[in-house]
Amino acid sequence: MAVVEGSYENLKVTTAEDLPVVTRLLEKSPHDSSTSLRTGLARRKTEPLSSPLSGDPPRSAYRVGLGTDIHRLVPDRKLLLGGVEIPFEKGLLGHSDGDALFHAVIDAALGGAGLGDVGEMFSDKDARWKGADSRQLLLGALARVRAAGFEVVQVDVTVRAEAPRLSPHKAAIRSSLASALSLEEARVNIKAKTNEGLDAIGRGEAIAVDAVVLLAEASPPK
Ligand code: MG
Repeated sequence: MAVVEGSYENLKVTTAEDLPVVTRLLEKSPHDSSTSLRTGLARRKTEPLSSPLSGDPPRSAYRVGLGTDIHRLVPDRKLLLGGVEIPFEKGLLGHSDGDALFHAVIDAALGGAGLGDVGEMFSDKDARWKGADSRQLLLGALARVRAAGFEVVQVDVTVRAEAPRLSPHKAAIRSSLASALSLEEARVNIKAKTNEGLDAIGRGEAIAVDAVVLLAEASPPK
């Protein structure tokens, strides 16, 4: 007895109705490796089980992390997002500088590495972090992530703010975040949207940020 890898293309021909489907599959170009029935078995014998993209690490070497943050908008505070100061009549309240974008990215990176969250690492009860520059907090978190054997490969961020309009600032935020992460800008994406007038964000009382970070194993995790 032997066990072989199955395939949705390896159809069982039972009735006459099955024949047109199988015939169509067999008619596919042998160069179309995604669906070719004829070449499928030969391809599977030689294809590595890891990523089909040559040079990429195997899929198991990737980790993904999700981060979210929300801060109140209040008068007499700077509005900082990704280290970029945005001219506005209000800013984000927080124990640190209130940079919700950096905080979301920190949480995503820590999450991907299995290292907890930003509140555990930089408690808002700890006077050391009062008024802290969140870029420095991100660099501290990244040092922990790297020490655990991971490097950031890519980040995608969505900012939800009713006001101010963020589109004129997206390029600067992207550049600032890429610099903090030591990534080329092509691997950093910043999206901005309103909350369609809904909830506290829609009333302009807060700004929220969601971030997803992709990590790759740089060395065996400790
Ligand atoms: Mg925060």
